[in-house]
Amino acid sequence: MSFTDIPGQERVVRTIKNALEAGRLPHALLFQGPMGVGKKDTAIELAKALNCAAQTGDACGSCIQCRKIERRVHPDVRLIERETEKTKISISQIRELIRTMTQFKPFEGRAKVLILDRAEELSQEGENALLKTLEEPPRDTYLILVTSEPNRLLPTTRSRCQKIVFTRAPYPIVYKKALELTANDEEYAKLLALLADGSIGSLEELHKQNLKERWPAMEDAAGGDIDPVYALLLASREGRSRESAIRCLKLLDAALRKRLLEAAENLAAWEVEDVLESLDLLSTYRRNIDLGINPRLLMENVFLALSHKGRVHVS
Ligand SMILES: [Zn+2]
Repeated sequence: MSFTDIPGQERVVRTIKNALEAGRLPHALLFQGPMGVGKKDTAIELAKALNCAAQTGDACGSCIQCRKIERRVHPDVRLIERETEKTKISISQIRELIRTMTQFKPFEGRAKVLILDRAEELSQEGENALLKTLEEPPRDTYLILVTSEPNRLLPTTRSRCQKIVFTRAPYPIVYKKALELTANDEEYAKLLALLADGSIGSLEELHKQNLKERWPAMEDAAGGDIDPVYALLLASREGRSRESAIRCLKLLDAALRKRLLEAAENLAAWEVEDVLESLDLLSTYRRNIDLGINPRLLMENVFLALSHKGRVHVS
């Protein structure tokens, strides 16, 4: 892998490469932008480019430095994430990070690179502890904060970093990737690319979730074209866990939006309103999931509400 393998982020990659070549890469960086567009991958490629033995301003991918970074075993490149059992990136993780940054020289490479993924999950104490280091990072050290929700970081954290803004990948790039994933199933690739909305990460996720089999039911539900028995059947399938329910709500949201887009010209005003109302309903249910409501019950409510809508207007 190298910078050129990050799809749809040419502008960002060019900015970073120019800064590298000019020897003016800031030591504290904030990679921000939507989920799944390649922020973390770019941070890892940058760590390789900084340490690569070939010193071409990119990762060669084959030297020992590049390979160790790829396998996440390079002693000078660290990826810090929230520990799975915790709700925040803890102060102890940040203390350890600061110690690594300030006490040691690089062991094997030319630069220490510390990547803080989902930086918005920093605990308040952790973020406060980080501030001083962000102000004056050591000369041979780079700190990269990666986030899709920059507004959850303190303004002082943001202002101490050079902001690099990632955007959604253009549709043709996402579609091309979708074709690869689906072994050139054009219809399915189109659907995937549409739903992925510029995010290669979402594209891969949707593909893994067997979207092809599940999608027709979502379209039926979005169109109110399901009866209560079918609604309950779908609810038992999609509501088997919190995660499954969240994914299903996203798919329903996408199905409703697609319906809104495709049929905007043909739909009667009350139908447009109906779709908008359903979208509203979904966002309410999405919030309820976070309150710990039983996912199966919740999905029953969702599908029954959608089936009810269809029947009301058909009659
Ligand atoms: Zn290399």
